[in-house]
Amino acid sequence: MSEIDTKFKLDLDYKLGLHEALNMQSDVWDFSKEKYDPEHLEFDMCNFMLDNNGIGLAANQIDLTKRVFVMGSLNIPNFPKPFALFNPVILETSEEKVLDKEGCLSFPGLFLNVSPPQWIIAQWQNSKGDTKEAKIDGYLAKCFQHELDHLNGICFVDKVGKLKLQLALKKLRKRLKK
Ligand SMILES: [Zn+2]
Repeated sequence: MSEIDTKFKLDLDYKLGLHEALNMQSDVWDFSKEKYDPEHLEFDMCNFMLDNNGIGLAANQIDLTKRVFVMGSLNIPNFPKPFALFNPVILETSEEKVLDKEGCLSFPGLFLNVSPPQWIIAQWQNSKGDTKEAKIDGYLAKCFQHELDHLNGICFVDKVGKLKLQLALKKLRKRLKK
């Protein structure tokens, strides 16, 4: 994939560890006074996400507690190319929920069934600061909600019961032994 450039220009800690920032509420992105250029950040975060085979990445996963995440894919049908969403909010959610597997770059190999609303109406700013609004459904809606949870300090392991989590961890340990 020639579109992937692994040279990161920003002095961010590009590590996907379990750290305090994962449980923190992220701050609003202020286009007039941030340290990072939003377009550079978008570029770097998208590349980092793709390099790690992710379809979503929130800034606090790489220790930047700002309200921005990237999502998308270069090869999943019906998925947009990776792009950044600044200050994302959900304006409306469907009554109907869908149960499906989710993974997370901060929890490699762990998959959990989570059931968020099937569709959402979302608003965000792009890296130029323009406000966007769209109805998002399918797996992309799941992705959006997972990443927005991150910005509020919530990980998918917080969304399932203890028993379900223990079972999933047991399965993962078994798989890792093989
Ligand atoms: Zn995640």
